[in-house]
Formats: sequence, structure tokens, C-alpha cells
Amino acid sequence: TRTYIVTGSASGIGAATANLLKEAGNNVIGVDLRNADVEADLSTPEGRSAAVDRAVELAGGNVDAVIACAGISAPAPITVAVNFFGVADFLTALAPTLAKSSAPRAAAVSSMASLQPNSPELVEAMLAGNEEEALRIGKELADQGPQTGYLNYPSSKRALSRWVRRESISPAFAGAGIPLNAVAPGTVLSAMTRELLATPEGRAMVDENVPMPLNGHSEPEVIARLLIWLTSEENTHTTGQTIYTDGGADATLRGDDI
Ligand code: NAD
Repeated sequence: TRTYIVTGSASGIGAATANLLKEAGNNVIGVDLRNADVEADLSTPEGRSAAVDRAVELAGGNVDAVIACAGISAPAPITVAVNFFGVADFLTALAPTLAKSSAPRAAAVSSMASLQPNSPELVEAMLAGNEEEALRIGKELADQGPQTGYLNYPSSKRALSRWVRRESISPAFAGAGIPLNAVAPGTVLSAMTRELLATPEGRAMVDENVPMPLNGHSEPEVIARLLIWLTSEENTHTTGQTIYTDGGADATLRGDDI
């Protein structure tokens, strides 16, 4: 059996991932704000390091894979703190522990929103590892109203996909034999989208921005199954990728521009 740390384990994609892994006989340590083995706030540096310490302790020091699903879509800088730093810093802190496994793996959840318009300045601040500056820019955007504030979300996912690509070939990951990838869902039926999809107007808005000609909105298990393959022993050579599991949204919107 393998030991997995799964963030965002209390809901949606993280909960589906944790459940499928457990059903297959794996040891899973869930991390979330509430209702998890490790209750921690990944929006702060203190919360992240406490979560890492407690999760490694519960794992008895042996962690085979980390799957980072925790995320939010608020039009506010906390989205940058959770979606980018709560993933990048969390995975970086766990890399040395992972490296001791015979088949270490790491994966995160990006989004097809990584392709949407974003704030390049904010993306750069995240990739520079400057959380203070990133939160300042994120707040500046939020202060201009929810529409501009929403840029926090696509910016956090663009930065995350770039970080995965850059970091995957670093000594800490490739050098330690750790494949590092992201999945990019389209629209998933979870707590994050429930309210938006509850009205015809909300659904029309979502479907215009995220067209899914193949099979429409997905259940969280669809995303979980890919995360599980990417972090399985079978995946030895796929790394640095953001894999769009989006019912054709990327193929529709980006077309030939790859
Ligand atoms: P969800 O709201 O069902 O689950 C997210 C989980 O993250 C929750 O349990 C929440 O408590 C946890 N979380 C939030 N902030 C946290 C914090 N500060 N510390 C610790 N845990 C925290 O949503 P979901 O749809 O399962 O989202 C999972 C991931 O998928 C997110 O990264 C999201 O951006 C991404 N995503 C979702 C969709 C979608 O349509 N639902 C589409 C693309 C990408």
C-alpha cells in the first residue's frame, strides 16, 4: 500500500480522490480547513508548515505521493494564497520527504481558467515567490470590483501551471525522481460551482466561458482518476504537464495555439 497526502480532502475533487485511493487500499492523510485528518489553513505560511509537519508525523515519515486539490475561486487575494502558495510551498516543503519513497509522485489541480485573461504582473510575483507583493497586487485588483478581482483566480492557475512546468525539471523533483504534474478541469460539479450552476443564467455564463462539447460538466471522480494515475507507480515519465480534462474546452478555446 502507498501513503498519500491529499489537500482539499473534505470536498469535491479532493474528497473523491481520497475516497477512491482508500477504496483501493491506500493509506490517505487528508488535509483541509475542517473535517480532515490534518485541519490547517493553507492560506498562510504558518498553516502550511504546520500542515506539512502534522501530515508527515501521521504518515510516520513515509509519504509516497502528494495530491494538492485545495483551492478557492473568491475574487480576492486569498485565492492566490491558497491556489498558488498553498500548493507550491506545500509541495516544495514535502519534496525531501517524498524523495525517500521508492516511487514518489506529486500532482496539483490547475484549471482551464489558466488559459483565461489574467494579470501578468500578478503571475510574475507568484513565480518570483514573493507572496507579500502578490497579495498586494491581488488586493489592488479586488478593490476594483468583483470582475477585476476575479483575475486573482486565472492568475493563480496560470502561475501554478508554469510553476509545475519549471519545477518539474529541478533537482528537487526530477533530480529526486518525482514526476510533478497538474490536471486542468473544465466545469466540475462540486461545492465550488453549485451556486453558479443553480440558475439558468449562471449555467449559461459558465458554459459560454467554458464550452464542454464532450460529455459536459464532469463529476469530481473524473478528475480524481487522472490525479490517481499521475501519482501511481505506473507514471514514470510524464512530468511538467498540465493535462486538460475539460470535455474539449481547451481544444475549443485555444484551438491550434499550442
Ligand atoms: P470544493 O470547494 O468542493 O473543494 C475545495 C476544498 O479546498 C474544500 O474542502 C475547502 O475547504 C478546501 N480549502 C479551501 N481553502 C482552504 C485553505 N485555506 N486551507 C485548506 N483547505 C482549503 O471545490 P473543488 O471543485 O473540489 O476544487 C478543487 C480544486 O479544483 C480547486 O483547486 C479548484 O480551483 C479546482 N478546479 C475546480 C473546478 C470546478 O469547476 N469545480 C474547475 C477547475 C478547477
